[in-house]
Amino acid sequence: MVDLKDRGTVKVVDGRYKFEGNFHYIYPNSPIRDKDGELMGVTNPRDITHVHMYGGEAPFFESLKDGKLLGTRCDNPDCEHTGMVHVPFKIHCPDCLKKNTIVDITDTAKKTATVHTFMVTERTGAFNTLKKPIRFINIEFEGVSTILMSYLPLGEPKIGMRVLPIFQTKIPTFTILDLAWVPEGTDESKLPEGFTFSK
Ligand SMILES: [Zn+2]
Repeated sequence: MVDLKDRGTVKVVDGRYKFEGNFHYIYPNSPIRDKDGELMGVTNPRDITHVHMYGGEAPFFESLKDGKLLGTRCDNPDCEHTGMVHVPFKIHCPDCLKKNTIVDITDTAKKTATVHTFMVTERTGAFNTLKKPIRFINIEFEGVSTILMSYLPLGEPKIGMRVLPIFQTKIPTFTILDLAWVPEGTDESKLPEGFTFSK
């Protein structure tokens, strides 16, 4: 048996990543044979811990557990599109390439978020953890120049429908899955486990 103790973890010491433990595990393989029993190959089971650095997007993921949705805004007075707000979170303005200012758009989302379009799917990528069918929705906000991709765990999506943000404030994963949306008027007691409208 593979001993999974000492699973790898990462700390930051003096501004550098410090890796501890094991980031790769190998498992016993098995032969692949054709119908006559002839050897065609082998499986190679592997278990790899990926390290994903958020960089300048870290405040966005950190704030979800606090029930906050962050966007960014270009405040460069010389930019052709100064004042433009971006959700999803863009670190730099795509027009002038200056660093954007972080803005809290939770209230804007609560008051103005609507479904721009949607897609319902039973087929997902690898390691899907969402309940199927998944209702992916694209959300538009008043005063925001971009459309945000997320999902609707409750209800049926319709174009133009008002939705409210919900946040994984109790058991956060620090990923985009800590943010979801529900139809306006949904009771807080109906939300998926760990989710709240705000903290
Ligand atoms: Zn700009």
